[in-house]
Amino acid sequence: MAKLGIRNCIRCKKIFMPVSGEKICPDCRNEEIKLEEHVKSYVRDHPGITVDQLIEGSGAPSEFVWRMVQQGLFENSTLREAKYPCGNCGKLIDKGVYCYECASKLRMDAQKFAQAMTSKKRAEEKAAEGRKTFSSSMYDEINSSRSR
Ligand SMILES: [Zn+2]
Ligand SMILES: [Zn+2]
Repeated sequence: MAKLGIRNCIRCKKIFMPVSGEKICPDCRNEEIKLEEHVKSYVRDHPGITVDQLIEGSGAPSEFVWRMVQQGLFENSTLREAKYPCGNCGKLIDKGVYCYECASKLRMDAQKFAQAMTSKKRAEEKAAEGRKTFSSSMYDEINSSRSR
């Protein structure tokens, strides 16, 4: 049986029991589904509008609309300039979470981090190697003193 836990809804702070790792309670989820439907039907009713016009016209929070765009919920719709801000610098992008510049910068940071971890690991291995040499030479010493 799956472990049952309770958590606070990140939206209304109410305590609820997630069924499969949800971060918001069923009430808020229903609200979001309703809002999603509202935003989608607004796009259907206003063909050719831009994201900005959608946010203004539908009254939905911009983060909410941007997330829907990012999730590709408007891919086959008439929404124009289906873009949303980069999660780091705010530049408008149409796919992923970050713009190209931020993504490559973050990748480089991750690489640097990985390199730092590798050299740290190497240093530790070297230290371990040193200890091994030390103990085996001690062993040799014991052996040679025995054979004497
Ligand atoms: Zn809630
Ligand atoms: Zn960016």
